[in-house]
Amino acid sequence: MTVDTNFMSSTSQVHTDNRGNKLANQKELDEAYMGTAILHARMSKARRSKVGACLVTRNGVCLTGFNGTPIGLPNNCENEVSRTYNVLTAQDEVILETKPEVIHAELNCIMKAAREGVSCLGGTMYVTLSPCVPCAAMMINAGIVRLVYKELYRDSQGIDKLKEGGIIVETFKGDLDEL
Ligand SMILES: [Zn+2]
Repeated sequence: MTVDTNFMSSTSQVHTDNRGNKLANQKELDEAYMGTAILHARMSKARRSKVGACLVTRNGVCLTGFNGTPIGLPNNCENEVSRTYNVLTAQDEVILETKPEVIHAELNCIMKAAREGVSCLGGTMYVTLSPCVPCAAMMINAGIVRLVYKELYRDSQGIDKLKEGGIIVETFKGDLDEL
């Protein structure tokens, strides 16, 4: 796979106004976009794990998402699956299983871009939880060139796939104590 290095460099620019005055450096931008992803995670109706994402295109267009069901479907992300009596807890167990139609936060950003006709090529994805393998694969083919994540998912294979696909992967290092 080849990656246009112009797109790469556009992800680490210092933003300036039309007179060349510095508006924000990369750390400030990373904090603003990760903060946006965190605030969106809070809106998820998932009971198992609330994840937020923010996709920023190479020209600074920002698309947000969180994990949830498709538009128009009941906004309930899990099925309650009854299990048999648990001898250890001496209780009947109900397990929450994520519904197959639930769309992950990062994919919801990409779907939003598709719906609005916005190119993901050269974009940066900010996500509160590192991606699963299918989302990593889709981000590679959507043209995302950089991923910034806050928490590491229990399975780091998604990260491995992104790196294999030539995507820049970074742990979020900003300061968001006030959120
Ligand atoms: Zn995923």
